[in-house]
Amino acid sequence: MLFRIVSFLFFQALGAALGWWLGQLPGALLAAILGAWCWFVVDVWRGNKVVGWLRHGDADSAPQLMGMWGEAADRARRLVRQLQKNEAQSDDRLHQVLTAIQASPNGVVLLDEHSHIEWCNQTACDHFGFNLERDHMQVITNLVRAPEFIGYFNANNFSKDVVMVSPVMRAASPMRMSVQMFPYGGNRKLLLSRDVTSLELADAMRRDFVANVSHEIRTPLTVLTGFIETLQTLPLSAEERTQYLALMSNQAHRMQGLVVDLLTLSRLEGNPPPSLNEWVSVGSLLKRCEEDAHGLARMIAKDGDKPLQLFFPQEDADAGHYELAGAGNELQSALSNLVNNAVRYTPAGGEIRVQFTRQPDGSGRVSVTDTGPGIAPEHIPRLTERFYRLDRSRSRDTGGTGLGLAIVKHVLQRHGAQLQIRSTIGKGSEFSVVFPPSRVRKQLTEELV
Ligand code: ADP
Repeated sequence: MLFRIVSFLFFQALGAALGWWLGQLPGALLAAILGAWCWFVVDVWRGNKVVGWLRHGDADSAPQLMGMWGEAADRARRLVRQLQKNEAQSDDRLHQVLTAIQASPNGVVLLDEHSHIEWCNQTACDHFGFNLERDHMQVITNLVRAPEFIGYFNANNFSKDVVMVSPVMRAASPMRMSVQMFPYGGNRKLLLSRDVTSLELADAMRRDFVANVSHEIRTPLTVLTGFIETLQTLPLSAEERTQYLALMSNQAHRMQGLVVDLLTLSRLEGNPPPSLNEWVSVGSLLKRCEEDAHGLARMIAKDGDKPLQLFFPQEDADAGHYELAGAGNELQSALSNLVNNAVRYTPAGGEIRVQFTRQPDGSGRVSVTDTGPGIAPEHIPRLTERFYRLDRSRSRDTGGTGLGLAIVKHVLQRHGAQLQIRSTIGKGSEFSVVFPPSRVRKQLTEELV
């Protein structure tokens, strides 16, 4: 302000001095007024420079002026710089928020007041088949035409989600997704989508499993209660009683077998992974399988049947020299299951051969080959599903629960091993287990020799 007053007085004084020199007092008065006008013109020119810069210029090209206009330009420049800094910071924050939303496993779509798509993340594009460039500001109901979604949208009640099939075609089964809207900021909406295919699958599997277990338990229970009622109500001979009690014991054992297998499965699911430092001899595992197989074969053989021929590795074969890393009881249960299945499904007089070989890549292979009925190729991928059975009556008659191969699969998964099944209808089957090299070693005592 001081500069303004001083410069104004200076212009007048300079005019007055020049006027005095040219025409004494009247000249001085006239020139002082002229000086004031000159100052005014210069001031307007300076103010105009600042206004011009404010209209078009950027913060860096602010005019360098003195006095009030200079200060105004300087303050405006600082204000603009601060605003630009704030804007850059909010842009940065917005970018970070959008990047975080991009990383979300859920689909996120932002809709404006008229349900136009303002923005969506890549997951939403994958779920709904959107292309943000093409579909930006399109009305969502024009793009998502699934009747469930249209009904949900029109009902305008977004307290729950809606489950629909994704319009995106996939090679695997179609994706099921849960979609929910969340109104915000007046009439805007946030739409979230979530892939629930595996959740629904797990739910269906759980329901099937409960239904299967109930069914498996109900059948022997019905038989048992029937016999109990008969024993209670009918006067039976001692011979009949013995016969009925034997049948009852059979059903009770069947239930017991089922419960044992169910407990084994749940233990396998809950247990920590088997150690890599515990070693079991392949020879002793197969020896135990051999004893079990002979016992089972005797138990299920009918009078007059030709006996099964069982071939197990000799003491000096590979099996006697190698060890496997893992939980001994689990490995025993898996291998025994495969051998017992071969015994149970191979008709009288058939042949069962069990072998262990160390393969060139260091892995170990236990194979169980039988001359049973064989399995059609379409059943093979499903054999390890719980309760999946081809020959129900043979399974039941020989004490099967339908869980044996499910247990085998679990045990092998935990040991990083693979189950390979080869079978030819009418000729027989081969169930092989391949253990990775890290879980196979020569017996230590031999290595030291
Ligand atoms: P189960 O208790 O019924 O034997 P598993 O899970 O052990 O249940 O086997 C599933 C099904 O696979 C069996 O019901 C049977 O139909 C078939 N299966 C298993 N092993 C053999 C085999 N060695 N030969 C023919 N079929 C087999």
